[in-house]
Formats: sequence, C-alpha cells, structure tokens
Amino acid sequence: MLLPALASPSSKVALRFPERELTYEQLAREARQVAYGLVGKRRVAVWAHVRPETCVVVVGALLAGVPVVPLNPKVGERELAHVLADSEPDLVVDDELPSGPPVDLPEPDGEAPALIVYTSGTTGPPKGVVLPRRALATNLDALAKAWAWTGDDVVVHGLPLFHVHGLGVGVIGPLRRGGTVHHLGSFSVVKAAGALRDGGTMLFGVPTMYHRIAAEPEHAEAFGKARLLVSGSAALPASVHERVEQLTGQRVVERYGMTETLMNTSVRVDGDRRPGTVGLPLDGVELRVVGDEPGEIEVRGPNLFLEYLNRPDATREVFRDGWFRTGDLAVVEPDGYVRIVGRRATDLIKSGGYKIGAGEIENALLEHPAVAEVAVTGEPDDDLGERVVAWVVVRGEAPEPEALSDHVARLLSPHKRPRVVRFVDALPRNDMGKVLKRELR
Ligand code: ATP
Ligand code: MG
Repeated sequence: MLLPALASPSSKVALRFPERELTYEQLAREARQVAYGLVGKRRVAVWAHVRPETCVVVVGALLAGVPVVPLNPKVGERELAHVLADSEPDLVVDDELPSGPPVDLPEPDGEAPALIVYTSGTTGPPKGVVLPRRALATNLDALAKAWAWTGDDVVVHGLPLFHVHGLGVGVIGPLRRGGTVHHLGSFSVVKAAGALRDGGTMLFGVPTMYHRIAAEPEHAEAFGKARLLVSGSAALPASVHERVEQLTGQRVVERYGMTETLMNTSVRVDGDRRPGTVGLPLDGVELRVVGDEPGEIEVRGPNLFLEYLNRPDATREVFRDGWFRTGDLAVVEPDGYVRIVGRRATDLIKSGGYKIGAGEIENALLEHPAVAEVAVTGEPDDDLGERVVAWVVVRGEAPEPEALSDHVARLLSPHKRPRVVRFVDALPRNDMGKVLKRELR
C-alpha cells in the first residue's frame, strides 16, 4: 500500500500550509471524495499551485489509480501546449475539485503509473516521465532508512509541487511515513527558521535556498537545531556547505536524484557529510560509473521510471541492458562516495586534450571573495577545441578577469583556468534554481 496512514486515518496533522491545515482524517475524507470524481479517467492534470488542494487532488488520484500530471502554475504558453498535447489529460483540475461520496477503491498494482512528471527542462524540452507506484514506495522507504525518517518528523520546505523534489519527496514522502508536511507557501529564510522553531525537524531545499540561509546569520540557531538539513536538485557548492556549517554548526546532507530515477544516492544521517559529495547509493539502488573518469552514472533498481511518455525512441536511448544512463558525470571516491562533476551535455569541457568538469571550476571560483555566483561553460576554440568560460556575478567590485583565472590555475591546475571571464548581473535559472546553461551560450 502506497499510503497506509490514509487507510486508518488519525487526527494528526498531515498537511500544514499557511492558509490551512488538514489532519489525516480530513485528508483521507477529501481525497476519497476526489477519488470518486476521478474513477475511470485515463489521466488527470492538476495545476500545482502551492496549496493543500493540490496535495488532496494528487492523493485522490493515487487512491483512484489515475495517473496525475502536475502542471507548473507559472508555465509559459508554449510549454503548456507541449505538456497538454503530450499528456492528453481527460481532466485538468484547477479551482473546482472533482467530488462525490467518499469511495474506497482497491490498491492498484505496483507497476501502475502514479505520476507523470515533466523534467525540469534544463537541457532541452521537458520530457514526461512515467513513474510507477513501486518506484515511489521503494524509494521513499530507502530514504527513510538513510535519514532515520519516521512519522514523528515534520518536513519543512517551500518547494514547488510539480517536480519530484517538492511533490514526491516533500509531500508523498511525509504522507507515506504518516508524518507531517509543513509547507511554507514559498521559501524565505525567516519562514523556514520560524517553522523549524515551531516543531519542524527536517528541511528540504535546493542550493539557492542554502545560499540564502548562509547569507542571513540572524536565523542560524534555528537551522542548527533541525534534525536534518537536506539539499538536492543541483550541486550544493562546497563554499555554501562550509558557510552553512560555520554559521549553524550543522552540515547539510546532500542527496542526488532525477525525475526518472527519484533519489539515487544520499549521505546517511550518521555518515560523513563531506562537501561536494552526494553520499552512497540508497538501499536497492545499483549505481555504476561507466567509461574513463569522470564517467557517466548509470543506475538500476526499483526506483526507475517506466518510460518517457510518447517517446519510445528517447526511452530506448537511455536504457542499456536494464541500466538507465543518467547523463550525469561523476567520480567515485575510495569509500564509495559519489562526487558529481556535472552533466555530460553541458559540463564536460574538452580543452587542449583534457576533459575538464565545469563543477570543479565553479566550486573553486566560488571560493574567491569577489564571486557571488558562477557558471562555467565551454565554447568552441580554434586552438584548444573548446575553451573554458566563466560567467560571473560579482560580490562588490569586479576583479580583474586575470585574477580569477590565476585563482583557478593556482587552486586546480593551469589548463583548467577560464580563458574568458564574462561578468553578468544574474544567471538564468529555472524554478528550481538550476542554472540554464544553454541560455548562456
Ligand atoms: P532535463 O532533464 O529536462 O534537462 P533536469 O535534468 O534538470 O532537466 P530533473 O530531473 O529535475 O531535470 O533534474 C535531475 C538532474 O539534476 C540530475 O540529472 C542532476 O544533473 C541534477 N542534480 C540533482 N541533484 C543533484 C545533486 N545533489 N548534485 C548535482 N546535481 C544534481
Ligand atoms: Mg534530466
């Protein structure tokens, strides 16, 4: 059963949003009413506004066994047209929830599609990832083991509800444990600190949020008291990891996942929280790094998706003998910890006969006091094949470009130094705070 806490619901708070709280009893009743309204539908889409009704619809669809497509409320017209034409929902739920007398339905099979989540679109148009119930169930249980996550935990976050981070791990996760979600409405350091002072035990965030936490020292004590601070969706810069530790006395636990695989690795609650590493494969997840270092991460296990919707060619391309090719590059440290270097598509720069990972250079540049944010890319170069380019948002006055190149040469090695430094006001990012490198080029 995917959500056992809804079978015999209690008066404990399941969902806490700024405007409204729902106990398990209320959630079970409302979701069963929604389930009634959804029975027999082939597929349903829901506008994933940050509000409890979104969770009620998703839970209702899970109870009814109807695959649900969460829609980004801020999606542009072109992308919306793509998602709707691709997923062909026979109902799009917005303000009015489907309803009827509460029904009890048999638990669908583990292989039945539960969610169709579109990827973040960081490297191309978003793809619809069909996730079966067993992927959610097994992956959430593996995370529970890694983080000693129980029904007593109150998970605090301000994440969007149309990706697997906020919706899968951040909502279905606590509900599977019989615990509580405390959604902040939207993320702010003040609200997150307040929720942690008010009973929150775990914080889920993306690196840009930890960047902000590190910049507001007056709330450090609240973050220091959390049972676990977790970061994912993009690489947490080592400099941010260290600043959060200095400030709060607490080291962030990093985990690595994707829409297609849910979570693959994490640092364990009692493991070594080393900056720049995403820990060990979760229980049940097999992980290997293929090719010369840095090689591509491939994974296999019950956490994998079924297919890309309507894209048999794309699905075939990413599977090799049951292994899923993530497109992410990594090295594995002697103790098995995975260190992600970047993505094959954007972060592997071939320059002067060397293979250079963008992530390492970004981390080095972030250690320079004048660098607030940075993205490193490669661009064609007649002499080198590709040259390393750094796109820098400065803190205070802009340094000489050579100072930044020398900094990298000194810290890493000369061939990794940026040949070009471009100062920009801001980096293009998506809703998850991920840098859209293809927009830089
Ligand atoms: P698209 O597939 O549409 O280009 P996307 O890959 O960003 O977008 P998601 O599935 O939301 O869409 O993100 C998964 C990716 O995020 C991973 O493949 C990886 O590159 C990155 N990622 C997630 N967690 C981490 C982490 N802890 N460290 C580094 N990268 C991470
Ligand atoms: Mg991807």
